[in-house]
Amino acid sequence: MLGMMMQRPLLISDILTYAAEAHGRSEIISVRCEGDLHRQSYRETAARAAQLAHALKAEGVDMGDRIATLAWNGHRHVELYYAVSGIGAVIHTINPRLSPEQLLYIIGHAEDKLLFVDLTFVPLIEAVKDHLPEGLRFVIMTDRAHMPDTSLDVLCYEEMLEAQPKQIDWPEFDENTAAGLCYTSGTTGHPKGALYSHRSTVLHALYVSLIMGAGYPPESKILPVVPQFHVNAWGLPYAAPLMGHSLVMPGPALDGPSLFKLMDSEKVFSAWGVPTVWQGLSAEIKAQGRIPEGFSELVVGGSAAPRAMIEAFEKQGVDVQHAWGMTEMSPIGTHGKMPQWVKDEDFKTQVDRKSQQGRRMFGVDLKIVGEDGTRQPHDGEAAGELFVRGNAIVSGYFNNEEASRAAMDAEGWFGTGDIATIDEHGFLNIQDRAKDLVKSGGEWISSIDLENLAMAHPAIATAAVIAMPHPKWDERPVLVAVAEGEETPSLEELHAHMEGEFAKWQLPDDVIWVEEMPLTATGKISKLTLRKTFEDYVLPELR
Ligand code: AMP
Repeated sequence: MLGMMMQRPLLISDILTYAAEAHGRSEIISVRCEGDLHRQSYRETAARAAQLAHALKAEGVDMGDRIATLAWNGHRHVELYYAVSGIGAVIHTINPRLSPEQLLYIIGHAEDKLLFVDLTFVPLIEAVKDHLPEGLRFVIMTDRAHMPDTSLDVLCYEEMLEAQPKQIDWPEFDENTAAGLCYTSGTTGHPKGALYSHRSTVLHALYVSLIMGAGYPPESKILPVVPQFHVNAWGLPYAAPLMGHSLVMPGPALDGPSLFKLMDSEKVFSAWGVPTVWQGLSAEIKAQGRIPEGFSELVVGGSAAPRAMIEAFEKQGVDVQHAWGMTEMSPIGTHGKMPQWVKDEDFKTQVDRKSQQGRRMFGVDLKIVGEDGTRQPHDGEAAGELFVRGNAIVSGYFNNEEASRAAMDAEGWFGTGDIATIDEHGFLNIQDRAKDLVKSGGEWISSIDLENLAMAHPAIATAAVIAMPHPKWDERPVLVAVAEGEETPSLEELHAHMEGEFAKWQLPDDVIWVEEMPLTATGKISKLTLRKTFEDYVLPELR
């Protein structure tokens, strides 16, 4: 027997309509590329998203069309999130930190129709414009007065909106319609696209609001330093309006002093981002001898939060929430909200707990699988690859059958490539990474691609890239190499060989020449042994 309840689709446009009606005075406060601090309410945001939706329609945008952005966190980027998906098109957020080659690949693979560009990123597009697909059109996200002098054929964002009506009846369609597209680096080859649906996005926003923001004072201010171009700023542009909290958007100003000033003047309650950005804020807090006014919670994820960082913030009265997730998971999987029995423990035990990755969010199932393929107990001891299942987790990758097949197990769970334990209270502990990637400043570098390129150098016989700890960037890649003959080229020479295919920040920080590579039983390079051998290694910059 079926229930007798209405079948209303879960649509993203409903979030903004709800926020405008129920939390109309909460705001999006944005540091903009133009240099000003801009404020607008959710009510105004809904009106501007309606104008943008009409403008997109006028430009011929249709259901399913991919509309790309190269933009910082800000109100116009949020308007795009809602307007594009609201009319059934797909918002494709592009990471500007990718190499030109990857950028071109992604734009081509997604078959973007329009590309919305923040002022900062116009030169990035100009540099590759001869290689962009024909027919791709550009919109500069500013007003007429700030339009840049560019050789590109461009539209002006504010002009597009101007004459359009501020109301719209958002169309209704299947909740499984694609809404967002975000590419994530693979261990090898090209980036792969996670294609979110309306249903997955709304459910993820609900889950996040249930847990992360539910205990905040009403109309709190949340600062997503995690970029909108990287996994939708962890879903905050959807979750915050749902909860009635305001969004404080840092735009391009991500250094410690700028973040401190913004948080202090806006009295930001909770700030979200990768460990690297909090190093900068920490330094500024030290310099000022105080934390920003009102600062109460730090959500940190994307890479493991260093224990020292957790301790330092906790000692200043900031509640550190360690979260774990993936682009493929919309992205939040686990979070560090603590039960009372942990809060009753001494400081050290609490920090121990906070150094782990927390417990699962509703809607996310976790299992760990041992090397022999069997499911491991949740006893805090047995380690294995972490697999996840849920209704905001990918079922494959956009137009990429091979990667889709490789990602899922026979039971339909998604393999994260993380090695973890789970204890009897449900706490996740990420111990290692099975995937061959280095994460620097929250962004990926493919070890395998670097190795392949290094081995194309005539002086290199074998190469392996390993991650070395770095206090600011978390990890930096170091190349371990066996020479083909007598010649051992310098790091600069190797960089010259590798440039172009990788962004500059992705190139190795050092090269270590070894006589031979340690191998595993199956004849592969043993990165485990290499990591052990170079346990005490210090990066050149830190010596
Ligand atoms: P991304 O898709 O770029 O968000 O990266 C997801 C991956 O980042 C995960 O599979 C982990 O390898 C890593 N990661 C994310 N959060 C954490 C965390 N809190 N601790 C350790 N690793 C993390």
